[in-house]
Amino acid sequence: MARYTGSVCRICRRENLKLFLKGDRCYSEKCAFDRRSYVPGEHGQRRRGKTSDYGVQLREKQKVKRMYGLSEKQFHLCFQTADRQKGITGTNLLVLLERRLDNVVYRLGFANSRTQGRHFVRHNHFKVNGKTVNIPSYLIKVGDEISVGEKSKEVQAINESLDAVVRRGVPQWLELERTQLKGVVKSYPARDDLTMPMMEQLIVELYSK
Ligand code: SF4
Repeated sequence: MARYTGSVCRICRRENLKLFLKGDRCYSEKCAFDRRSYVPGEHGQRRRGKTSDYGVQLREKQKVKRMYGLSEKQFHLCFQTADRQKGITGTNLLVLLERRLDNVVYRLGFANSRTQGRHFVRHNHFKVNGKTVNIPSYLIKVGDEISVGEKSKEVQAINESLDAVVRRGVPQWLELERTQLKGVVKSYPARDDLTMPMMEQLIVELYSK
């Protein structure tokens, strides 16, 4: 699937949920979802009929996929990996998504959205355990140290994002050392650590058809 290049805010309105895809704007009064929380398009404000089980499952998958900014192929591969792991497939899937380097960069506050986190990673701004990693899908492990590269410490966007993380907070499975511009993975996230509304069982049901 090609990369989505349309309006990002449209995605939130389509999924009927604030997905926080645009950094600071999401917390401001400019948020398109807060201003127009109905489905985009000419008939967006019409009353909808009952959605089928398949439709509900599909929307949930689309929502989570878009929240993490993955293509269908990337998301499905992630699901297949989760399915091969021990434990509950849905939880495995969410943990795998959280372990992506672009997400961890965002969660630690070095980026104000996952999209920006991916951009920073691709541009060699981050190191994992002292080595530059420019693969956004790289899966971090417990004990890994994620740091800003020496040449990137003055990048304004990274420092501005760190100022903004105060509002968002750093999840408890990560530890940010603000002055050192680095963070450590203390553990993998538990299901309860993921507070956005996600019904992963619906995704499992969809892919199990
Ligand atoms: Fe979604 Fe953020 Fe746009 Fe609001 S500003 S609609 S939360 S992406």
